[in-house]
Amino acid sequence: MNIQKARTLLYEAGLKLIKEGLVARTWGNISLRLNEESFLITPSGRTYEALSLEEMVVVKIADLTHQGEIKPSSEKGMHAEVYKMRPEITAVVHTHQLQASTVAAARCEVTGLTQEEQHILGTSVRCSAYALPGTRKLKQTAAQALGEKRQAALLANHGALCIGTTMEKAFEVAKTLETACQAFILRSFSKKHAEISLPKNLNEATMAMHQYYLEKAKGGAV
Ligand SMILES: [Zn+2]
Repeated sequence: MNIQKARTLLYEAGLKLIKEGLVARTWGNISLRLNEESFLITPSGRTYEALSLEEMVVVKIADLTHQGEIKPSSEKGMHAEVYKMRPEITAVVHTHQLQASTVAAARCEVTGLTQEEQHILGTSVRCSAYALPGTRKLKQTAAQALGEKRQAALLANHGALCIGTTMEKAFEVAKTLETACQAFILRSFSKKHAEISLPKNLNEATMAMHQYYLEKAKGGAV
């Protein structure tokens, strides 16, 4: 991909991330593959609104070295790992989006996806083992959770990793993941609620029935 085109695409994607409400608490980081050897990523420690096209950083997939004075995102290793493992992938979006981060904090695998969601995300969305942000362990556990067929993974107590063959598709993954996680939270909550209240109700009903027959056996009024 042409570098200038990639800079514009990445810049616009950063603004879209804010507009879509996928940036919660702090911003994440996004990247685009330039070719087989390198990718373009958002810099470290800057907000998307304050970013200029020239501040996007070119990073080498093989050794994570970068061009220029500006430091790339500290999660560059996680992005590089995806480009290494999945040659078909062109865009990587890492967010701290609210619903996905909530499920990631509970370290659950998102199952029970609709057919449409499965088409976009994969059969389920797995959660990685916990690792500190920006570490070698995080890029390994994230890649493991993603695997070879899924388009999204949750990062334990951290956020989400969404990928696509285009930036547009990676965004679609991030948005679908958010609604899928919201539905998953609601389903888990109602299930938990039912587990808590059902035995209690059943107990009360059983006791009432027991009382009824006791009274009946005694010949009393029921
Ligand atoms: Zn993060």
